[in-house]
Amino acid sequence: MNDEIQFLVDENLLGLVRQLRMMGVDAASYKSLSDDELLTISEKENRILLTKDRRLFHRIPEGRGYLVQSEPPEEQLLEVLKHFSIGESDEALARCFECNTLIEEVPKESVRDRVDAKTFAIYDVFYECPTCHRIYWEGSHFEKLLKKVERIRNAVRK
Ligand SMILES: [Zn+2]
Repeated sequence: MNDEIQFLVDENLLGLVRQLRMMGVDAASYKSLSDDELLTISEKENRILLTKDRRLFHRIPEGRGYLVQSEPPEEQLLEVLKHFSIGESDEALARCFECNTLIEEVPKESVRDRVDAKTFAIYDVFYECPTCHRIYWEGSHFEKLLKKVERIRNAVRK
């Protein structure tokens, strides 16, 4: 189990970033950073740098980075979870897909004008990302994601 691990993910692994956040893993990622900037942030924030870029990987200090081999995001996810022995996180589906912040439950009334009327009528529990203000709710999409999280957890256990 290695649940405290934090990652910084290179832009060339955009699909993987969202998958990691889905599983509750702390995965930061920023657009248009140079290799130097990535190395600096990784060191400053104590984040393991994930990349597909062999040249960048060879500049990362020993043990502070990982070169992802797989191509499809889901295989990349399994590869990383297994490599770092990352167990099940309580923060699965509790992290903003867009910006990695933990989302917070908000009063239904506060989202009235920010989701479509049908969604507002059907659902009672809403969450908001305190950083980018994206709204989340446990709709049919959520059920699908929940199944996916379970499927990945089972695959990691094997
Ligand atoms: Zn956000």
